Amino acid sequence: KVLCVTGASGYIASWLVKFLLQRGYTVKASVRDPNDQKKTAHLTSMDGAEKRLHLFKADLLDEGSFDSAIEGCDGVFHTASPFYHDVKDPQAELLDPAVKGTLNVLNSCAKSPSVKRVVLTSSIAAVAYNGKPRTPDVIVDETWFSNPDICREVQQWYVLSKTLAEEAAWKFVKDKGIDMVTINPAMVIGPLLQPTLNTSAAAISNLINGAQTFLNFTLGWVNVKDVANAHILAYEVPSANGRYCLVESIAHYSEVVRILRELYPSAPLPEKCADDKPFMPTYQVSKEKAKSLGIDYTPLKTSLQETVESLKEKQFVS
Ligand code: NDP
Repeated sequence: KVLCVTGASGYIASWLVKFLLQRGYTVKASVRDPNDQKKTAHLTSMDGAEKRLHLFKADLLDEGSFDSAIEGCDGVFHTASPFYHDVKDPQAELLDPAVKGTLNVLNSCAKSPSVKRVVLTSSIAAVAYNGKPRTPDVIVDETWFSNPDICREVQQWYVLSKTLAEEAAWKFVKDKGIDMVTINPAMVIGPLLQPTLNTSAAAISNLINGAQTFLNFTLGWVNVKDVANAHILAYEVPSANGRYCLVESIAHYSEVVRILRELYPSAPLPEKCADDKPFMPTYQVSKEKAKSLGIDYTPLKTSLQETVESLKEKQFVS
């Protein structure tokens, strides 16, 4: 079968392409510039790529640019979306590519009768930001939707971009009768295949490279290989439906630093929290739905070790 992966050179998508090729699929991979060897060499050198990987040029903001990558595909994985926090113009840099880009990709899917299912890489960001208190007994699950007004109030532009993109996607597929499943991962860590440093792996490289403080945040964490596999299950399992939150562990940054210190006692890890407030409390994210799809998780400690080893190998750790 032929499948499309948008944003194929990214952190999660690179693992997805690798696993799809391993499973014998033919992959039509969209990238912004197929001639940019720096962004594509790790893809074109994968086992099976020579015969079964085809690169296509597409930009989220160019209407219709995904048509040829999607035409003739049985399934489409839409992973491309900007993931940065440091933006000057949130509308142009995050919101437009996320929302218009998603609709652009879905429009191409609607035009291609071969497409049986779309798997959208959403985020826990589109689930958990609804202003409800987070305490140890609170269980976040797939019925939660982030509230765009709250995202705007706290100027969480990336969170807003994922929330609005998923919202727009559900509306579009409902109108057009497209079968869509969303994957909603927490912070994704684990080994990098791509040569550039992505935002979530950078959170770990900052800590291990001598950051003065750690953030007062409690986040969910999940391994990139498990996230890629979840995408494949969401496509392959006929009964897969709706949204799937992916979280292996919920941990405060202080706990992440503690585990890193255990693994790398001589690393210059931060001792202090970035503020004097009480640590953000823990909460839970339901694993039930992900379990029903057959998703298995790598433990946080292993994921952190894999991340650091990969960062070292790629010389992102000094
Ligand atoms: P990366 O930054 O590694 O990948 C993002 C991809 O989006 C890149 O391939 C990038 O292309 C592409 N992209 C960005 N803007 C455009 C554009 N205008 N046109 C075409 N392509 C574009 O991040 P991740 O792999 O981490 O993220 C992949 C997906 O997973 C995103 O949807 C993200 O929101 C989601 N996600 C990520 C999490 C994480 O912790 N990493 C957690 C939850 C969800 P290029 O290489 O050319 O810049």
